[in-house]
Amino acid sequence: MALTYFESYPEVSSTFTFEIDDVLFSAQSDFQKIEIVQSKAFGRILFIDEMVMLTERDEFVYHEMIAHVPLFTHPNPRKVLIIGGGDGGTARECLKHPSVEKIDLVDIDEMVTQACLRFMPQLASSVFSERMNCHFEDGVQFVKETKERYDVVIIDSTDPIAVGEGLFTRDFYQDCFNLLTDDGILVNQSESPAWLPSLVEGISAKLRSIFPAVHYFQAHIPTYPSGHWVFGFASKGPHPLKDFDSQRIKAANLSLNYYNEAVHSGAFQIPTFFSRLTGNG
Ligand code: SAM
Repeated sequence: MALTYFESYPEVSSTFTFEIDDVLFSAQSDFQKIEIVQSKAFGRILFIDEMVMLTERDEFVYHEMIAHVPLFTHPNPRKVLIIGGGDGGTARECLKHPSVEKIDLVDIDEMVTQACLRFMPQLASSVFSERMNCHFEDGVQFVKETKERYDVVIIDSTDPIAVGEGLFTRDFYQDCFNLLTDDGILVNQSESPAWLPSLVEGISAKLRSIFPAVHYFQAHIPTYPSGHWVFGFASKGPHPLKDFDSQRIKAANLSLNYYNEAVHSGAFQIPTFFSRLTGNG
């Protein structure tokens, strides 16, 4: 019988089953259960608390979208803050932008980074860049206390449970707003509107109560719940479409597999049920 791993979706009484060949890493850190398995179809998969964080096969979709949408909208992103993202995938994409001089990555759990360095170095080795500063501490506390200012803040979090819960509160978003520069942009992973509508609605309402402009964009990520995954784009200034210069993407000539000029614009064209949830409709 095949060895299997599951991710359960209690909201829709369903389960995604992965056939796997091997468990490469399994440990309980001070914060969460971390596992990396070798699957048959999706390459290696990182699970935290029995939820899929990324698979080697489709991680490029999530990481390209969460990084390049804000970085190609902001006129000159120099300082970036990543909250979460200890696997290094988002940092890898941010580092492709020569304008980015410094990235602070704040993940509560160093074990995530250590495990990914061992089993997913194509993501985690980004932490060795001279432009990277890794802080292994609670992101909620970091944004409250730092005196730094950032052009772009990316919240690459787990789901709003356990240690991730604080990264979905209004106070946390307010602290992020305070540390953004005048034309700063915040992007956060905002879960699935198909299966978690009230969660998406709540995140949007909190962002809207703080930021002058909030937009939503979406991506198709086959191994995340429902496959329909969305991101909040909360901005102090730049508009994701009106201030987006597609020529910059051409000129940058980055090696990418999902994000491109058409995807940037198309990702903000969101379905009616989703735009109602986020107050865009
Ligand atoms: N791409 C993923 C997704 O949407 O499922 C997120 C993956 S990334 C591995 C999430 C990271 O957030 C984890 O490494 C976890 O340790 C980190 N994290 C959770 N709560 C945190 C907190 N309060 N402060 C900083 N990092 C946190």
